[in-house]
Amino acid sequence: MNYKVLYRKYRPENFDDIIGQEYIINTLKNSIINHKISHAYIFSGPRGTGKTTTAKVFAKAINCAEPTWANPCEKCDFCVHFNENPDIIELDAASNNGVDDIREIIDNVKLAPTNGKYKVYIIDEAHMLTQSAFNALLLTLEEPPAHSIFILATTNVENIPITILSRCQRFDFQKININNIISRLREISNKEGIKVSDDALEEIANIAEGGMRDALSLLDQLSKSNEEIALEFVEEHIKIISKKTIEDLLDVIEANDIKTCLEYIDDFRKKAYDYKTLVKRIVDIVASRAKNMQLTGKFKRLSFGDYKKLIINLIESINQVNINIDSYTILEMTLLEFCQNGEPINKPENEKITQEKKEPIKIKKNDNLDELINTRINNCFCNAQKKFLEDNKVKINKLMESPNISGKIKGILIDSTLVASSDKNMIFCVNNDHNEGPANQMLKEIEEFIAKEMNEVYKIIFLTQDKWQKEKEQYIINLKNKKVYEYIEEIEKKDELVINDVFDKEKVEIV
Ligand SMILES: [Zn+2]
Repeated sequence: MNYKVLYRKYRPENFDDIIGQEYIINTLKNSIINHKISHAYIFSGPRGTGKTTTAKVFAKAINCAEPTWANPCEKCDFCVHFNENPDIIELDAASNNGVDDIREIIDNVKLAPTNGKYKVYIIDEAHMLTQSAFNALLLTLEEPPAHSIFILATTNVENIPITILSRCQRFDFQKININNIISRLREISNKEGIKVSDDALEEIANIAEGGMRDALSLLDQLSKSNEEIALEFVEEHIKIISKKTIEDLLDVIEANDIKTCLEYIDDFRKKAYDYKTLVKRIVDIVASRAKNMQLTGKFKRLSFGDYKKLIINLIESINQVNINIDSYTILEMTLLEFCQNGEPINKPENEKITQEKKEPIKIKKNDNLDELINTRINNCFCNAQKKFLEDNKVKINKLMESPNISGKIKGILIDSTLVASSDKNMIFCVNNDHNEGPANQMLKEIEEFIAKEMNEVYKIIFLTQDKWQKEKEQYIINLKNKKVYEYIEEIEKKDELVINDVFDKEKVEIV
């Protein structure tokens, strides 16, 4: 039997079958109806979103003898022999990216098309062309013959030279909505007699991340076993962390169970999941859990705000994986922050809702911390000197090699730069904003470690790059204005205080 992979078999033949790119399709159709066709297009966007398919339908439609509302008729000579047509020239720049490859296809660009109106050049993965290939292409784009049309498809539009971009009409293809993918998968499964459960289809669509081609390839791959495709089957066959595992991990975090949370992360580490994919998946599931909780009003220990913060922190953590530390350490820090928040959950069910109880209002140490940060910045500027900075930079670097350094402290110090130092204070700047919070939560621990290792006592503080920039600018202005910094003694805060004015005489506990 002549087996054709699903995504080829079900590749759309006309504009109306292309899913999820309505704006682009309408614009292209209108340009055909109104005879306003450009000579060069850029189709950019993620893989599998229909760029090449759209390019082919467009090439067919503009040459079709009898298009209907800009859709190719599928009956005329051109439509029927579209795939063998010498005037439709495809180049895969991923494998043919040199100047000779481009010359070869555009050498005869001036010759009239053999049986249609237009010669259409479709260049896939156009960003892979070499500079000299782009230059050769540019010469043609500067004076294109009336019958030639270039369509450059690319997943990395930022790598296309601006000289080329400026000569093209650009269309940005979007990831395809998950529901659109699911319904297309359902339609094709029915036609092909593939038995697949709804949650398995949803999972396939999720894994494909908005790419129809990937979704269809996955379905193809999974359908070969002739078994009914259930969710577990999908998870088993595609090395991806299961939704259930992530749900369980979230339950562990809700239960404030730090030990088990760490065990989960250790397990991820051992299985060496791709970090980005893993985090994306956790984010998806956290988001849908938060949405459901918001809908039903059934929150456990963590609030909607906590979930939202968790998502933001997880996304930010992706940006940190390029630093030279174990990416799972970042995940640990991110998740543990939510284990330590609030109170443990091992109380009887009916006590979880605390609204009517006279519990002290928990507020974070922020106010306290902000004050501490300002004090320490001030104190550091009192006697900040370059020689302290340089000496301490060397010392801090040496600390990293100490056998006594904990993974956490090392992670924090690796991600920070010492930017100012006096004889009593040091200011560090975190490379990633996200680390400012966790680092400042560990001041005491780090200070104790520094004191032990360096035999000198320092008060330290961590700032984001932005904050540091502002403080530095202010410092320079103050220096010019001859402002004198005065050392402020740090006052130990009590663990509990009463803020009558703000909280209506309720007890406020600083956690
Ligand atoms: Zn036709």
